[in-house]
This record gives sequence, structure tokens and C-alpha cells, in this order.
Amino acid sequence: MNDLSSEKPLILIVDDSPTIRLSLSRALQDEFMPVEAVDGEQAWEFISGDSRIEVVITDLSMPKLDGLGLVKRMRNSVVMRIQNMPVIMVTGADDTDARESAFQAGVNDFVTKTSDRIELLARLRAHRKLAVTLRELEESQRELREQANTDVLTRLANRRFFTHIANKELSLMRRQKEHFAVLMMDIDHFKNTNDTFGHAAGDYVLTQVALALANNVREEDTVARVGGEEFIVSSPYTNRLAAIVLAERLRKAVESLDLIYNGNRIPVTISIGIAMQPQDGDALDTLMGVADERLYVAKNAGRNRFCAANKHHDEPAVDIDMVCPKLDEAITMIKHGNLQRLMPHMSKLLEDLIPLFELANEESPVHIDVDQVRGAIIALKSKNKK
Ligand code: GH3
Ligand code: MG
Ligand code: MG
Repeated sequence: MNDLSSEKPLILIVDDSPTIRLSLSRALQDEFMPVEAVDGEQAWEFISGDSRIEVVITDLSMPKLDGLGLVKRMRNSVVMRIQNMPVIMVTGADDTDARESAFQAGVNDFVTKTSDRIELLARLRAHRKLAVTLRELEESQRELREQANTDVLTRLANRRFFTHIANKELSLMRRQKEHFAVLMMDIDHFKNTNDTFGHAAGDYVLTQVALALANNVREEDTVARVGGEEFIVSSPYTNRLAAIVLAERLRKAVESLDLIYNGNRIPVTISIGIAMQPQDGDALDTLMGVADERLYVAKNAGRNRFCAANKHHDEPAVDIDMVCPKLDEAITMIKHGNLQRLMPHMSKLLEDLIPLFELANEESPVHIDVDQVRGAIIALKSKNKK
């Protein structure tokens, strides 16, 4: 039935009468590849399971699920392919009422049981052509929308899209009186990379840095490429300390990239400028300006570092590894294999979870042995002290 080698478009014929299925199949088989279903339920199974089916031609009254039921189900589908699939209904020539309700249900066209082969083929061709054209149009619209928002080389958001998203987030953060961080980043001595290894190698470095950044931010952060070798991250609900932890994580992630192109190992580092709402301003332009100034402070201070204050020496002496990550950050660290940094904080993270375990035990009988967890925490603590 489902001949994979067939180049002909698949058409589903739905009728409980074998005679009618046979005569329709015969009439169409020169141009289409007919697939037959005996009722609406079986038709639905085929339509859901085989994305090659392009047009449905269906009887009105059938056992289990009739033609109207089938069309209604298709038009309510969340799968666009099914929702938009052309449906032609076979009705009696003078069955005006049936046609009216079928039309209401979303049927595209009608044929009668006495329609000849030429008429059938003409209608099928027209509906299939229309459906194909609509699909192509949707696809190209989707591509256009995506192109307008993404950077072609790195697939990150572009400046336009970043500005759009970050402005929305920032206004929400202002309303909720929450912190919002902007991190401006620039690859160090990137001109040298191009000069030494070639422009294609430079492009490769750009894509890998983009990936490292994207893999080391939270779901709600936005990473964008805003210039040749300049990137930006916006991070809602992020205070100054969290922004510093984030910057250090990104700096390390890029520094530890092991990039090899055409047999050459290419070192790469970034410098980062951090600006915060509300401390440094509450407009996106202002924050991006401040972050940019601090980026150049970081550059002048020797590169491969971040700056979160106007003068680099204003930086508080934060030992990043002393800061216990938040639970979501800890999970990201596990996913990225940064276990070494996580281990010293393990007992604290588990301790924070104890109220959650207790609640789970109270609310539903999950029997987490909280005493055992406490014991394990104490053991971890004494291990860390050694
Ligand atoms: P600094 O540490 O001060 O940032 O030095 P730098 O060399 O990175 O800065 P500079 O602004 O002098 O050089 C940036 C270089 O980035 C120059 C330009 O050719 C290169 N560049 C910009 N866009 C692209 C790109 O799309 N692909 C490649 N391969 N190179 C690019
Ligand atoms: Mg640079
Ligand atoms: Mg630059």
C-alpha cells in the first residue's frame, strides 16, 4: 500500500464501500498513489501516521467515524499539515443539506458518485497544487522571520532581536523591582586570529565562542551577536554578585575551549563589561553604554577578564569559587561537567533541599529518609574540611 519508491503524491480514499474505493483508486492511480481506509477512524490513523498523505477524498456516511467527524477532527488538529490538508467529499448530486454542513465543517470541495475521471483528477490536481503553494509560502515566511532575528554565522539572536527582547525584559524587571544584568563581550586580539590562521578559522572561532556562551547561560538569558566579534548577554533576575559569577563562568568557558582548525590549535579569550539595573541606569541604551565602557576597562587592564565597576580596582575581592551556586546553576554545572567547582558546595546545596524533602514526605508518602540525608551532609562537610 505505502510504496516508498513512488514519486506520485499520496491520496487517501476513505469509503466503507469496497466497490467505490476500487473505482476511485482506478480513476486516480495514473497520477496519484491511492491509499484506502474503510472509515473515518482508520483514515485518521493513516493521516496521523503518514506525513506523505497530501489530499483526502472521503465518503460522508460511514461506520465508526463519518466524513463530517473526520473533517472536524482534522481541522481541530494542532498539526498544521493535518489542519490544512485538502479534503474533498463525495456526496449525492442533490444533497444540498449534506454539502452545507460539510462545507461548514471545513471541507474544501465536493464530487458526486457519478463524477467522471477527468473531473476528479482536475479537482485533485488543483487542491494539491494550492496546498503545496501554501506550504511553500508559509515556509518562506518562516525563514524570512527567522533571518530577520538571527545572525547567519552563529545562529544567535542579532542586535535587532536582542534589543526587542531585552527591552521587554527590562521593563518587566523595572516593574517588579528586580535586578537585570547586561554583559558586553568582545573577543581578545581577534584581528591576530584572522591574520595568523585565516578568515575561515576566525569564523570557526566565532561559532564556537557563540556556542560556549549559549551553553553557559540560563534558559531565561538572551545571548546575541551584536558586532563582528562582539557578543552580549542579558540576564533578568540577576544581581551584581550573580552577574559576576555569570561573567566568570563565561570567561572560563571560552578560555577553556580547545579549538583546532586545519590542524592548528587556536587560543581564544574574551573580555567582559557588566552593567546593572538599577545601579547603573534603567534604560537599555544606558546599560549597554556602561557595559561597553567597562569592557574597555577590562581590555586595558590586560584582557581575559571582566569589569563590573568604573575603575577596575574598585572590584570587590570576590573569590568566585567561594560563592555557592543557585540550584539551577548547579544543575547547569553538572550538565556541563563542571563538577570540581560544585563539590565544595554540595553539602550546602543538599542542606537547602531538606525542607523540600520534608514537605514531599508530609504531602505524599514518598518516604525520603531525611535523617540519612542529614547524615550524608555531615559526612560531606567533614570530608571537605580535611
Ligand atoms: P581587542 O582585543 O582590542 O578586541 O582586539 P581585536 O583584534 O579583537 O579588535 P579589532 O577591533 O582590532 O579587530 C576585530 C577583528 O574582527 C577585525 C575584523 O576583521 C574581525 N572580524 C569582524 N567580523 C568578523 C567575521 O565575521 N569573521 C571573521 N573571521 N572576522 C571578523
Ligand atoms: Mg576584539
Ligand atoms: Mg571589537
